[in-house]
Amino acid sequence: MRAHYWTHAEMWEELRRLEMAYPGLIAVEVMGHSREGRELPAVTVTNMQTGWPHHKSAVLVDANIHAGEVAGNATAIYWIQWCLETYGHESQATELLDHHTVYVIPRIAADGAELYLTTAARFRSSPRNYPFSEPPEGFVESDVDGDGRILQIRVPAEDGGFAKDDVDPRVMRPRAPGEFGGEYYHVFSEGQIERTSQSGPLPAFSMSARARRHGMDFNRNFPIRWAGEKGQAGAGPYPLSEPELRALADFIQGHPNIAAYAALHTTGGVILRQPSTGDESVLSETDRELFTRVAESGAKVSGYYSGSNHAIFASGHEKILMPGAADDWMYDHLGILGFTVEIWNPSGRAGARSYGELGVRKMMTLTPEEHTEDHRKLWTWADREVGQGGVFEWRAFSHPDFGPVEIGGLDPKFVLQNPPPHLLEEECARTSRFLTLLGLCTPRLTTPVVTVACESEGVYRIVAEVANAGFLPTSSTQKGDELLLEGVRASLQGPMTILAGTSPVAVGHLDGYGDQSVWATPKRQRAHAEWIVRAGPAACVVVVFEGVRAGRTSTVITLP
Ligand SMILES: [Zn+2]
Repeated sequence: MRAHYWTHAEMWEELRRLEMAYPGLIAVEVMGHSREGRELPAVTVTNMQTGWPHHKSAVLVDANIHAGEVAGNATAIYWIQWCLETYGHESQATELLDHHTVYVIPRIAADGAELYLTTAARFRSSPRNYPFSEPPEGFVESDVDGDGRILQIRVPAEDGGFAKDDVDPRVMRPRAPGEFGGEYYHVFSEGQIERTSQSGPLPAFSMSARARRHGMDFNRNFPIRWAGEKGQAGAGPYPLSEPELRALADFIQGHPNIAAYAALHTTGGVILRQPSTGDESVLSETDRELFTRVAESGAKVSGYYSGSNHAIFASGHEKILMPGAADDWMYDHLGILGFTVEIWNPSGRAGARSYGELGVRKMMTLTPEEHTEDHRKLWTWADREVGQGGVFEWRAFSHPDFGPVEIGGLDPKFVLQNPPPHLLEEECARTSRFLTLLGLCTPRLTTPVVTVACESEGVYRIVAEVANAGFLPTSSTQKGDELLLEGVRASLQGPMTILAGTSPVAVGHLDGYGDQSVWATPKRQRAHAEWIVRAGPAACVVVVFEGVRAGRTSTVITLP
């Protein structure tokens, strides 16, 4: 396994290498193209000898839908490597690839990620101009001093809202109410004011232009309570307006065996569960239980926190928190059990408070002194754990717009938004443990148990029973069942005539062992089918059970 921040070309080279090295276990295809024409890979990992990919229940993992969250891409590639390299040696990998299918879309925001990795620029998702075709004038984030990074600027000013912390003067503390008589600063992201030559004066500290320049957010563009730019920043001109996301939606629709899903993001060190469009009352008791149990087991194996989007992000009484996110769309429209994993928690590492642990509402109630204390911890931790590559002491700079300023801070890309390279592997490994667990939770049909009784000369009664040995039901969730997803069907193949019974015959959805809310009554984990057939002596008959999300299982019998 190799934890690495892959450029587009490196990623493709690595995927092609893996394809050569592990034939029969991996297939790589082009899912679609980015707006700028980059090929978007889709990776299938399973043991092709134990069944075709679409004949097994699958987990889909996608990553890097947010351009700067490149640790998600690193984790996706790392997990593919782990599956391949440990298959046959490690029981979980072997179970996973023998009985389930893994689909990985390692990088969605390919254009933005490439610029993020190869220039100083940062993007939420895409370098396309949005929502304005002609970006408005104003303050724009940029690498003004040309050191290859966009850090922070502090501008000495009488009306500044920050002062140097007494304990660690690198930390900027909020200026206290009624405080005068010290040195005060404006503090904001490194950048400068862009204006057309004749446009007259602009407010020096307008910060809004950056978001309005590259304001597309791929994870707000899905057709789930989509509310336009005014309803949700980054929503895009219409649902699935972006080629990257249409390709992803087509991939998902084209692989109806997907039963579980995880989207890899940064940061927070938390596994987020549904829903993010409202409180948990929108979930049935059964689905709430499934989400909670998988997320909590995931928290155990990863060392991350787990929480519902609502519990973590709600800061007031919002009914709709975040329309247009991929995991909500997949649950609401397809009934797929999905999670958002926020990889990497620098605050937690530093011993400071983090939203993944406390939730956003609690974080908002922290006092300025508590925030300052946490910032000190973050700098101290970065000094110790990261050092020169990530800690940039404030140094004087003559700014074209603001005059004498200082530029400094912690590396926003590989300290704050993603792990520094030497800590990347640990995050990849812990997230991979959750992904493996999630894949192993998908439905799994057992090999059919078949009994044959001879009713009369050449006439046989065939009874076949199958069970779902997976944690999830064959519909993935109760929601999936409500969405009229086809259940499991049984069929008979071979040289015979069916006298009674039909083939195929629907046997409905099967519960998984995960739904403990009905533990007091027997769950419906098993189903059987029965036929009476006429056949010649020693005829070979195949009994098949298959479900769209459950996979396919069969037993070959020779009639007496
Ligand atoms: Zn994200």
